[in-house]
Amino acid sequence: MSSKLYETHLNAIQSFDPVLSDLLVKEKQRQMNGLELIPSENLVSQAVLEAMGSVATNKYAEGYPGKRYYGGNEFIDQIEQLAIDRAKQLFGAEHVNVQPNSGSPANMAVYFALMQPGDTFMGMRLDMGGHLTHGHPVNFSGKLYKCIQYPVDPKTELLDYDLIRKMALEHKPKILLSGFTAYPRVIDFKIFREIADEVGAICMADIAHIAGLCAVNVHENPVPYFDVVTTTTHKTLRGPRSAIIMCKEKFGAAIDKAIFPGLQGGPHEHIIAGKAVAFKEALQPEFKNYAQQIVKNAKTLADELTSLGLRLVTGGTDNHLLLVDLTSKGISGKEAEHALDSIGIYVNKNAIPYDSRKPFDPSGIRLGTPVLTTRGMKESEMKEVARLIVKALDLHKDSEKLKTVQSEVLELCQQFPFYK
Ligand SMILES: *Cc1c(COP(=O)(O)O)cnc(C)c1O
Repeated sequence: MSSKLYETHLNAIQSFDPVLSDLLVKEKQRQMNGLELIPSENLVSQAVLEAMGSVATNKYAEGYPGKRYYGGNEFIDQIEQLAIDRAKQLFGAEHVNVQPNSGSPANMAVYFALMQPGDTFMGMRLDMGGHLTHGHPVNFSGKLYKCIQYPVDPKTELLDYDLIRKMALEHKPKILLSGFTAYPRVIDFKIFREIADEVGAICMADIAHIAGLCAVNVHENPVPYFDVVTTTTHKTLRGPRSAIIMCKEKFGAAIDKAIFPGLQGGPHEHIIAGKAVAFKEALQPEFKNYAQQIVKNAKTLADELTSLGLRLVTGGTDNHLLLVDLTSKGISGKEAEHALDSIGIYVNKNAIPYDSRKPFDPSGIRLGTPVLTTRGMKESEMKEVARLIVKALDLHKDSEKLKTVQSEVLELCQQFPFYK
């Protein structure tokens, strides 16, 4: 593998700043030489990388296309409009704001636009699969608003729509939020819409994890009939580390105002350019095959891990991620993450529903297939990955033997290069 990040840019970094260059090269090698199974990550294309490293970073463009507070935005306006139009086409959205710097500020802007401090909203508990910004007490969302948090069913570990309806009827939230961070199953967005209508709530989804699947209907896409949908662009959608907000026209002005001037200053137009590229990629017919392969790979990984004796939360997966309950292996999520990390298999420790252990050392790990699918791996490689994971977990106390698994990891990775 060449030691260049990409031709034009790393040349300059290499000659001016060898210390940083060396670190970037090492990070690239780590990404290429390991099995990346963190479900919120992906590998962007060379084209997306180039857009993010482009001269669009130089421009101040506070405001929106055609209504800027700075001159010289003739081309920047066209870049941002391209990103907006492609996002509209991809998801069937009425209104899109492509300026949020990341998923958390996107959610913040929606809450600022549509609620007053102290208002009630409903989201899923973090330890059941929700996100910090869905009302966790340490997060602004739980501090500024009264958040009623729903759990999953203790037996099935699935969404309990009857309970969510009951809680919504009781608490009358201003916003009913669905969309999760660690939920391996299909979300019935139609039921959320019905419940929101029943209680007069704004119906919002945060599809950060599954956006790439929703864009091509491999998971149902809520955008056409929800009031507001936020998503990051760097997870299954495979774009830059960033986010967008999609909504019905009637909420557009309030949401745009909440982003600018409410929360952010100058938009990151180089990242918006990267989003425009990523949306074009997702509009190609091959992206649907990619999304379908992500799910096939996740299902194969789930089946194989189960047959090798591990218990999966909900018994399996319908999307790109799986949650493994390690209780029967007698190893904690933290120990597992650490052991796997040491041989180049990257996963993250994660609470399982009704976890008896503490959040910093929970009972589970969370795995996903977006990165390995981007690298071209298919079902047969997933079986191999499952075998390597279980082998490593079984050897986790024996660092010598554990090291032997690392060469198998490397061998597999080298068959699926991605960046030159
Ligand atoms: C990842 C994620 C976010 C946050 O995104 P950041 O870009 O890390 O701020 C928000 N919501 C959900 C459901 C997520 O999974």
